[in-house]
Amino acid sequence: MKYTFDIQRTATPRVKPNPDKLLFGRAFSDHMFIMDYETGKGWHDGKIVPYGPLSLDPAAAVFHYGQEMFEGMKAYRTKDGRVLLFRPYMNAERARKSNERMCMPDFEPDLFVDAVRTLVDVERDWIPEKPGTSLYIRPFMIADDPFLGVHVASHYLFIVICSPVGAYYNTPGGGLAPTSIYVEDEYVRAAAGGVGFAKVGGNYGASLKAQTRANSMGCEQVLWLDAVEHSYVEEIGTSNAFFVIDDEVITAPLAGTILPGVTRDSVIALLKKWGITISERRLRIGDITEAAKQGRLKEAFASGTAAVISPVGKLVFKDKELSVGDGGVGKLAQQLYETLYGIQTGDAADDMGWTIEV
Ligand SMILES: *Cc1c(COP(=O)(O)O)cnc(C)c1O
Repeated sequence: MKYTFDIQRTATPRVKPNPDKLLFGRAFSDHMFIMDYETGKGWHDGKIVPYGPLSLDPAAAVFHYGQEMFEGMKAYRTKDGRVLLFRPYMNAERARKSNERMCMPDFEPDLFVDAVRTLVDVERDWIPEKPGTSLYIRPFMIADDPFLGVHVASHYLFIVICSPVGAYYNTPGGGLAPTSIYVEDEYVRAAAGGVGFAKVGGNYGASLKAQTRANSMGCEQVLWLDAVEHSYVEEIGTSNAFFVIDDEVITAPLAGTILPGVTRDSVIALLKKWGITISERRLRIGDITEAAKQGRLKEAFASGTAAVISPVGKLVFKDKELSVGDGGVGKLAQQLYETLYGIQTGDAADDMGWTIEV
């Protein structure tokens, strides 16, 4: 490691949650990483401290104008007790792109990764062991200048917190389960020139309305369409979307409105390695419904850190229900899930060189 940080250990460790009843993002570990930035001084005072509330001025810029960014990644425990991170430098590089778009200070990728590694090392005991569980890691940055003018702040905090999380699927054995997806043709997630490619809070606050509608339609997630024609498929909720039509796998190109997922990149790399046709190209929802009617829509799935791979069983579009494949878990989704999850947890050979041991 290039950076070392001061570690202040808690005197009052918490009781760890029941590993059989872990939810997503509800319980937090004993410590957090926190580092200050000030214009002229740069990043300084990075340290591990006991987890706890922040004290911020009510006028802090982040509360009013949303100058912030976040990341999401996981640490996994292997069967032989090692701790692995999955492609953390990709998260670091993505964070830098979010920072750049939000006029927030840059940092070296090593600073980001070493902060995460140091915290995960301190929180080793918080990484649950049961299959499907992991330690979710949430790095984020906020502008905390106490000033109500709309401006580029001169003081920031970079913080990392950890949350032990359970298996994403509630199925017996934790296997994949098909989801229902609502095709949202009114509200949009991102427009070209905006912040769709950046992991910034505003994107998610603005998505709740559509998410609420999808839920009221009996669906788990939204399929977002492009902001101009409301026709091209973009993402599924907070994950990247893949469609398998005939023998081609199709996902939206990274043209500014799509969040460049680490899982997306890994799926593309695996498909290429397996000799499967994968196209990063625009795809109309009309072409998907047409393919479904002709029995050519074999699979659809979403990719992201939380679920890794989430198969789509059904699409709801303009009050019509459309079955994807046979409505179950697709072959490719299953194979991708097993391979990625295997690499992440050290069960499968990491011949792509994707994991880093803590
Ligand atoms: C975080 C996120 C993803 C998935 O990215 P991963 O790095 O694979 O977790 C996809 N889309 C959106 C909108 C996201 O916020």
